[in-house]
Amino acid sequence: MSTPDWQSLVRPNIWHLAPYRSARDEYSGTDAHVFLDANENPYNRPYNRYPDPLQRELKQQVSRVKGVPVGNIFLGNGSDEAIDLIYRVFCRPSKDNVVAIEPTYGMYSVCAAINDVEYRRVTLEAHFSLRADKLLQACSQNTKAIFICSPNNPTGNAMERKEMLRLCEDFNGIVVIDEAYVDFQREPSIVSELSAHPNLVVLQTLSKAWGSAAIRLGMAFAHETVIGFFNKVKYPYNVNHLTQEQASEMLHHIDDVEKWVHLILDERPKVMRAVSELPYCKEVFPTEANFFLARMTKADALYNYLVERGIVVRNRSRVTLCQDCLRITIGTPAENTALIAALRQWEG
Ligand code: PMP
Repeated sequence: MSTPDWQSLVRPNIWHLAPYRSARDEYSGTDAHVFLDANENPYNRPYNRYPDPLQRELKQQVSRVKGVPVGNIFLGNGSDEAIDLIYRVFCRPSKDNVVAIEPTYGMYSVCAAINDVEYRRVTLEAHFSLRADKLLQACSQNTKAIFICSPNNPTGNAMERKEMLRLCEDFNGIVVIDEAYVDFQREPSIVSELSAHPNLVVLQTLSKAWGSAAIRLGMAFAHETVIGFFNKVKYPYNVNHLTQEQASEMLHHIDDVEKWVHLILDERPKVMRAVSELPYCKEVFPTEANFFLARMTKADALYNYLVERGIVVRNRSRVTLCQDCLRITIGTPAENTALIAALRQWEG
């Protein structure tokens, strides 16, 4: 898609919004040493000061690690914040709609409901694959965004790049590709397509491969116009000081992340094989994430049995196309062994 008509995409109230300007927005120079502008307490350093509202230092690091210019980066309180912002920036409540694959990550539909936006579900094809033409057919004049998750949660498969790029080409709104599990997939990230596709928004997170779900740091990579609107609408200090510090620390430890990904990818086929050999397992689905979906007989009963044994997996048996399926995350070797031992003892 050539440069979108931003004004017709963005909600009129957001287009005209005069954003809140915090003390730290108004003064961001470096030479001052007496800060009496933000009604902070002068004691209890460093926690007495508001954090950088635009997380400039952290973005420099993210930029280096991800190969995306600083101006194309938004950082939020988890990628969930960016998902919500897409609705708040682009979708007029009770008028606009979004289209999404089904099944997929639950927050897209929850945020749609919170923002009073119609959510159109397009069921995936065989092997949970994506057909761009079906998604495009589900769009109307008021469709503002298409949500794709790749690798998809809960199915685990990565979507075909050709189909995702076709959406970017042929759809006149925002195409969101949620890459929360990108570090486990075979292909590199789709962020390299950002400059060619101004309507593409790529979501990533420190919550998965980076082992940092507790700190809540999500990333959105997009055209600088989209980033500008996210910044306008977000809470002024949406990423707190402790998170910025810890995220920065993690970004210096890429070798740890690579080591963890390696360990998890090494364990994954072992767990999948053991599960597929269980007499009551009907199917184990291929995956490019740190989890996989397995179809069982009597998934509910098996789920409850595992909980009684102190092992919690995700019961997805009531989700479209996932009847009788459990979603199993790959843990440490000891955790995986405990899971498999318990599964082998089930007499369901
Ligand atoms: N996207 C997907 C596909 C997810 O599975 C999750 C978390 N389960 C998220 C986004 C949310 O990530 P975060 O912790 O960054 O909010």
